Amino acid sequence: MNILLVDDDSVDREIVKRALRSSADISSITEAKTAEEGLIALENKQFDVILLDYMMPQIDGIEMVITLRNKPNLGDTAIVMISISDDEQLAIECLQAGAQDFVAKTEISPGKMKRAIVQAQKRFELEKKLFDSYCQVRELAEKDSLTGLSNRYHFEKALKIYLSNNIRSNKNVALLLLDLDHFKNINDSYGHDAGDELLKKVVDIINDCLRGNELFARLGGDEFAILLSGISDVKEASKVAERIIGSLEDPLHVKGNKVQCGVSIGIAMHPENASTSESLVKYADIAMYRAKHQGRNRYCFFQETMQQQLSRAYQIKMELDEAIKKQSFELHYQPVINTQDKEIVGVEALIRWPSSSVNSTPDEFIPIAEESRSIIKLGQWVFDTAIEQLASWQKDYKSTLTMAINISAVQLSDDSLASSIQGSLKRHGVSPEHLILEITETALFSRSENAKACLQRLSELGCKIALDDFGTGYSSISHLMNYPINIVKFDKTMLPESNQSDRYTALMRGLSSMVNIIGLDIIAEGVETEFHWSLCEELSIKELQGFYFSKPLLSSELTANWLA
Ligand code: C2E
Ligand code: MG
Ligand code: MG
Repeated sequence: MNILLVDDDSVDREIVKRALRSSADISSITEAKTAEEGLIALENKQFDVILLDYMMPQIDGIEMVITLRNKPNLGDTAIVMISISDDEQLAIECLQAGAQDFVAKTEISPGKMKRAIVQAQKRFELEKKLFDSYCQVRELAEKDSLTGLSNRYHFEKALKIYLSNNIRSNKNVALLLLDLDHFKNINDSYGHDAGDELLKKVVDIINDCLRGNELFARLGGDEFAILLSGISDVKEASKVAERIIGSLEDPLHVKGNKVQCGVSIGIAMHPENASTSESLVKYADIAMYRAKHQGRNRYCFFQETMQQQLSRAYQIKMELDEAIKKQSFELHYQPVINTQDKEIVGVEALIRWPSSSVNSTPDEFIPIAEESRSIIKLGQWVFDTAIEQLASWQKDYKSTLTMAINISAVQLSDDSLASSIQGSLKRHGVSPEHLILEITETALFSRSENAKACLQRLSELGCKIALDDFGTGYSSISHLMNYPINIVKFDKTMLPESNQSDRYTALMRGLSSMVNIIGLDIIAEGVETEFHWSLCEELSIKELQGFYFSKPLLSSELTANWLA
């Protein structure tokens, strides 16, 4: 047995050595006069037991125990503390620090030393086993089993530590939140095994973009976090993001399939953007959301304005709910004009929110109402109010007048939409062919069966279906063929300015003749000038809508200006 004896007092060392010498199984005793010397001796030789004096100058015995127990494998050696005092409190302190036994110098005898050494070795063996199983449990608790990365639990713990360390340096920590683009589609189309394989491949690729000293964690699903510390220039964070996006540009081979997997990254900086870990995560998340909205496969730094926009959206959402309850909206009506006689043929109902303290336009609040699905209730109010208005105009002025109503994608997913509209038409005695339901191409893009069935029902009811904003989205011919569409509304951006090249006019000409050939009607939106009007006339577009004729009007104004 090899023993290391650490004690600054040479007389005490002699007493211990004498007690040990009578024990046959001790093969060597190495002496050290200080803790530092002891630690150096440990670097060079493996000992079975350390006999360690409690009281020493500079580093005392307890500090040496703590240093040793922080080494890998707990420093690998059993420790018996030796002290002049036999104070029980002191003994407990030594054991708590990581020693296995405690002997008062007054008690030293061959028998006592032998027992202490054997027991200390046994105890240390047990403590190590316990420590190993603790490490295994911790590994399970802190690691993501699929990728081997840190999991969310460990990431959140580590993030707090990184940030508190960062406050003391005058550098930055950058948090990158990553979300794979369209991962759900890949999972759904090729199965979960393929999804798992893809995640592992992506992790390998991202690891190759990192130096290895970053905290890289999987937060769940296809969401990852990377923490870069010691950053002096934000460019370092954008370089990492660019490298990751670039390295995921090529398709990956997963279970025999070639899949394209982009990534959207949001970046927030500590302490510049946020002081706490919670707000740093929140801001990186906002930036990631923005990156996704800007078209995916890109990175985006958090900016104060994003938070302002987000809180405005939240304020609008809250006020909207209240306004829907109180029905504090108005409908304005914009006339649709026949090219030949400049007579009104119909109107489009456009919602207004005059009482709103946030002063919001439909382009802003409709998408928010769609996101919270409150558009379903709001939409019901719109078509009921518009149909009632149409009934009254048809009765008093023009029995052929049409009413166009905008319907959002979310409304199409509502199974009761067709029957609600049918109910409203019946209640107000309006025949369905005078109702035009305007939908945008993005509503069709989700290719949901629900939406298709809903449009089919409305069409069978006799309502006209118009494809709104044509020319801004996909302008896909397949949409025109696969859905029961009667009218195509050319978006205002399609109308060229008088000084624009002939190509714009040629495009309009081509598109309008295509739409005419397949038997659909056209309404041109955004007719603002005489030039627009004569161009539409030349292209035989029969119905027009725009500021050149009239802006959207209150119902009383529309009656006075166009019907009475
Ligand atoms: P939209 O259906 O394409 O409606 C046409 C928009 O263009 C209206 O904006 C109208 O005021 C505007 N506009 C009309 N003529 C001209 C013109 O000559 N020049 C220009 N620059 N603009 C013109 P508005 O009322 O702000 O509505 C914006 C969008 O909000 C609508 O686009 C529609 O998508 C949506 N929206 C409006 N009301 C409703 C509604 O009740 N329900 C749903 N789901 N969406 C609605
Ligand atoms: Mg419209
Ligand atoms: Mg439009």
